[in-house]
Amino acid sequence: VIQIGQPEHSVITTCAYCGVGCAFKAEMKGSQVVNMVPWKDGKANEGHSCIKGRFAWGYATHPDRITKPMIRASIQDPWQEVSWEVALNHAASEFRRIQAKHGRDSIGGITSSRCTNEETYLVQKLVRAAFGNNNVDTCARVCHSPTGYGLGQTLGTSAGTQTFKSVEKADVVMVIGANPSEAHPVFGSRLKKRLREGAKLIVVDPRRIDLVKSPHIQAAHHLQLKPGTNVAVISAMAHVVVTEGLVNEAYVAERCDPKSYAQWSEFVSRPENSPEALEAASGVPAAEVRAAARLYATGGNAAIYYGLGVTEHSQGSTMVMGIANLAMATGNVGREGVGVNPLRGQNNVQGSCDMGSFPHELPGYRHISDSTVRGQFEAAWGVTLNPEPGLRIPNMLDAALSGSFKGLYCEGEDIVQSDPNTQHVAAAMMAMECVVVQDIFLNETAKYAHVFLPGSSFLEKDGTFTNAERRISRVRKVMPPLGGYADWEVTVKLAEALGYPMHYRNPEEIMQEIAALTPTFAGVSYEKIERLGSVQWPCNDSTDEAGTAIMHVGKFVRGQGRFIITQYVPTDEKVTRKFPLLLTTGRILSQYNVGAQTRRTENSQWHSEDVLEIHPHDAEERGIAEGDWVGIHSRAGETVLRATLTERVQPGVVYTTFHFPESGANVITTDNSDWATNCPEYKVTAVQVMKVMQA
Ligand code: SF4
Repeated sequence: VIQIGQPEHSVITTCAYCGVGCAFKAEMKGSQVVNMVPWKDGKANEGHSCIKGRFAWGYATHPDRITKPMIRASIQDPWQEVSWEVALNHAASEFRRIQAKHGRDSIGGITSSRCTNEETYLVQKLVRAAFGNNNVDTCARVCHSPTGYGLGQTLGTSAGTQTFKSVEKADVVMVIGANPSEAHPVFGSRLKKRLREGAKLIVVDPRRIDLVKSPHIQAAHHLQLKPGTNVAVISAMAHVVVTEGLVNEAYVAERCDPKSYAQWSEFVSRPENSPEALEAASGVPAAEVRAAARLYATGGNAAIYYGLGVTEHSQGSTMVMGIANLAMATGNVGREGVGVNPLRGQNNVQGSCDMGSFPHELPGYRHISDSTVRGQFEAAWGVTLNPEPGLRIPNMLDAALSGSFKGLYCEGEDIVQSDPNTQHVAAAMMAMECVVVQDIFLNETAKYAHVFLPGSSFLEKDGTFTNAERRISRVRKVMPPLGGYADWEVTVKLAEALGYPMHYRNPEEIMQEIAALTPTFAGVSYEKIERLGSVQWPCNDSTDEAGTAIMHVGKFVRGQGRFIITQYVPTDEKVTRKFPLLLTTGRILSQYNVGAQTRRTENSQWHSEDVLEIHPHDAEERGIAEGDWVGIHSRAGETVLRATLTERVQPGVVYTTFHFPESGANVITTDNSDWATNCPEYKVTAVQVMKVMQA
């Protein structure tokens, strides 16, 4: 720990990393943070933290921070520092010029799950009210958009059903496509505690994650499926539940839509959905699937926790609905210890989706075509809104390449490093006439920008984040913005330069507007959060001021739970003689996503590069030894990584992380995406691996 001095005062705020949303006490000396101490009264973490939240906050004052606005005529030119006024007026006049020439829909905006609720709300408002279109999207597009779609369709609300604390009442926990020990460490510790107390564990993952076997923990079943076959496994489990009479008939009869249940149960009962029939596709022995299904259905309170290993697939939305089907059929939704729980990657993925930063939805998941809802926003914002859904991120990129999309405002999101098929993204960025990046660092996306607006870190602003359990917590300013303005102020100033003034004096006023216009946020106020520490939406029920810990108690939000048929469709990304291995991707404890923050902290001493995990058999076939440099070739591109030999991955599967831009993990991922939401299929890429240099 770098201790810079003794603290003089402290400020309670929320971690800026993962979706657990731990509360911290920022201990201050003057305007300098000297320590981050996990707050014992924080309901998401109860005094615990991980090495990211506790130690990796130094990026906020890293010398790489850009604190002056900059512009340049073309991306080949050097940056030129200018005043805020010049930069904002330049961005606004470029956007208006482009719209005059190419039409109202030729520009758009992208916001980020690292932004606060208030900031995200403002970006979608700016796009809808000042740009005059719905071309707004968020980085949830590339992570949990299938969660929003799938849970909305089945249960009626696009959010997890439980509090983290609920796991303490679980008897069986099924972890699917998630690695909480690395990616959600504080929840991971809570889960491990429950497992050490005796709860049974089922892991569904192509990789042998640490939970499968760690001190005093042994998974009852590890369904080590081939990447891309989640739906085959969930359908096979459903087949067992239905055909072996393990359905909770009373629950289904009381709570679910009978017609959809009849269709679904007939579908999953078919012989082609049996574990035996699907064994060849998934690679999981049928007996193991049967045993896991019986344990989930009969083991008491059964809870499902899932991550991006569920969503980042061509059938991501299908799998989310398959999970919800299984939970409803066994009566495992609507009380403590059960539920369907997406583990959100970034701190404010939930909030970013709640705030209407999707091109088809206004805040609170209401479709833009709904004239009643649109009318409420039109009255509040004083504009006429476009009823047509706008472009998603991949559509914006495609439109840029075809010449109809020319300008982008990108706040807090590094699409060039994050999004798949980097070459495609880079070509699209180069085809645009004005790219405005608002960020704390000159990230990979800024290489293609014409205007750079200095962003502010979580330590430099007020606002709120919403974690994976729908908990809204305060982010509190502990030092002035290094660039002079907090992000929400920059968006307000850009709107003004575009001729659409917004009149907020502080983020609290933005939250008041959100609460007034968004039913799920009705009852949310800074005063209430101040008093209670945090609140969980929905929180407009007078019986519990702090909100709703468990969703769907007694009745689903949509009324009756709806079963949806989930037909397994193999991904287009096939292994061939040329590309015989399947690459899947994930995260590591000390680093966070594209690493823009953690790479600039002491955390890089534990993990300073991305490596390729390869099974010893596959390595031997290719003459690869530990530490050798290997070339990885896919249909999209190629990159070079150092290899590590491990039996964590099964033969035929390789694995890497994507925390370092130079590793180019997304140079090799493809354009394949979820059929419903276009969430990229990061988890399945057919590759060849060849040795290029000895260690
Ligand atoms: Fe931050 Fe997540 Fe670690 Fe908590 S678990 S300290 S929210 S990174």
